Amino acid sequence: MNDFDGLSAVVTGGASGIGLATAHLLAARGADVAVLDLPQAVAAGVPEQFVGLSADVADDRSVRAAVAAAADRFGGIDVVVNNAGIGAQGTIEDNADTEWARVLDVNVVGMVRVARAALPHLRRSSHAAVVNTSSIAATAGLPRRALYSAAKGAVYSLTLAMAADHIREGIRVNCVSPGTADTPWVGRLLESAPDPIAERAALEDRQPHGRLVSADEVASAIAYLASPQAGSTTGTSLAVDGGMQGL
Ligand code: NAD
Repeated sequence: MNDFDGLSAVVTGGASGIGLATAHLLAARGADVAVLDLPQAVAAGVPEQFVGLSADVADDRSVRAAVAAAADRFGGIDVVVNNAGIGAQGTIEDNADTEWARVLDVNVVGMVRVARAALPHLRRSSHAAVVNTSSIAATAGLPRRALYSAAKGAVYSLTLAMAADHIREGIRVNCVSPGTADTPWVGRLLESAPDPIAERAALEDRQPHGRLVSADEVASAIAYLASPQAGSTTGTSLAVDGGMQGL
């Protein structure tokens, strides 16, 4: 299927996990893809079919420069996949205000920065779409995930608000809400657990379909929401969580 022929996409957090799977899928379906990620992640190697853009979504100047570079290279931007994010564990007593500010800045304001920089280009596209990565954490009431859940809930609300603000300009905005997905992120969590095998089994057990979600499954949902086939879909969240408790 070459439904992204002639379209260009910027995928944040595209050097790893869900972002990397999405970059591969969009490219396989015909898109020109730029991967925006932290300088160390881009330096570590981005597959050569993608344009690698070094930026920190917490730094507006670097975001603006990276988005401008993608638009110059491709002659425009049609799709933004706002996927970069960081985790946080604990109850509200476990994270200091500085940590709340940092995680909300990266996970929520980071998406605003990228979308804001891309808006002038999206307005010129005839297939403009933004897809934000939220999480099951937005609605599942997961224990010891207060800050992360608040951030991902904000991503969902931001998605609704942006969808309302920009649909008259022809820009659709949706989000995906993955359950626990088998990515390097979860690999790192498991490595730090006292018993990684038991911890993985517990994570699998928490999902009604008895396994972790794959990065490719999330990428498929993102690609659908970004694709011209979803032309009448905006302001939605697509759960990819094995039936756990999606939006
Ligand atoms: P990952 O750690 O494999 O990839 C995240 C990528 O984001 C990395 O390449 C990292 O370098 C990049 N990144 C982090 N901070 C950044 C910043 N400030 N600027 C630019 N890039 C930055 O993780 P993943 O599991 O693929 O997660 C991707 C998204 O999916 C995140 O938003 C995460 O919250 C969300 N999510 C993950 C899961 C899961 O279980 N893995 C579940 C639900 C939602």
